[in-house]
Amino acid sequence: MTAQILDGKALSAKLRHETAADVAEFTQKTGVTPHLAAVLVGEDPASAVYVRNKQRACEQAGLKSTLHRLSPETSQQELLDLVARLIDDNSVHGILVQLPLPKQIDERLVLDAVHPLKDVDAFHPENVGLLVQGRPRFLPCTPWGVQQLLASGNIETAGAHAVVLGRSEIVGKPMANMLVQRGKGGDATVTICHSKTRDLTEITRTADILIAAIGLPEFVTAEMVKPGAVVIDVGINRVNDKLVGDVAYEPVKEIASAITPVPGGVGPMTIAMLLKNTLTAARLQVSR
Ligand code: NDP
Repeated sequence: MTAQILDGKALSAKLRHETAADVAEFTQKTGVTPHLAAVLVGEDPASAVYVRNKQRACEQAGLKSTLHRLSPETSQQELLDLVARLIDDNSVHGILVQLPLPKQIDERLVLDAVHPLKDVDAFHPENVGLLVQGRPRFLPCTPWGVQQLLASGNIETAGAHAVVLGRSEIVGKPMANMLVQRGKGGDATVTICHSKTRDLTEITRTADILIAAIGLPEFVTAEMVKPGAVVIDVGINRVNDKLVGDVAYEPVKEIASAITPVPGGVGPMTIAMLLKNTLTAARLQVSR
């Protein structure tokens, strides 16, 4: 069996096109242009590329984007002051603080400081709580993108055993949370695995849907995958100037029923969902 390729690049383009139409309609009705403020601290080249891609996607969809670049030596207070200014600025609807932050800054403190209505990454505890309770305000961009990819491939999550590799606040935990919710794109039986999980292969081999978000290049081998499983690769790892995922793509593609490539799978979806969240944020703030 050769797997169906879940093409995140194409789906992202389609969704961004739809968002552009929604943004145009919103702006025409309200006179407001949704505005994403991105904050980049330091000089991590990968982060700079991510932020640039997000900004470009905003502009293409008719959203305004501004970049606040801070030096690697920025203090926690300086960053908190900038976040406070962006919260007070009524023309800004979404605030994105690109991670990781330099060592001297407590990431959690900064993410908690973002106003929940401007929290387009859905990292604020209020938004996480709403998600867990099944009444999300914003869905976290990467897991939401995965959910959209599954839907686009007509992959049934209801009753499926979904195994999520990784328990980060950004990907693993919210992914598992979304899959276990009642309703469309959910209703899965979910197992979360992490670095302390015993007999990992035995568990992954029971997955109907296997989602890898661990940050180890080609960690998931064909032996870890049940024939016919759907494999979603969230990982982005740079190896000798090449991007590879957390899944050994070539061998796994031969036994999976569907798979996402890296690049061109989950990555572009994250950006498409961020644009949707920025529009949602603008709607919520305009209607207040
Ligand atoms: P983190 O480093 O925050 O989390 C990694 C998780 O993997 C942890 O829960 C860790 O377990 C677990 N893990 C590590 N080693 C193993 C192992 N040997 N066996 C089982 N579990 C293990 O990573 P992120 O969630 O932030 O990111 C994961 C990957 O996804 C990265 O490659 C990142 O670049 C990529 N990414 C891609 C995005 C996209 O848009 N496509 C967006 C965000 C991330 P423990 O908790 O025990 O340490």
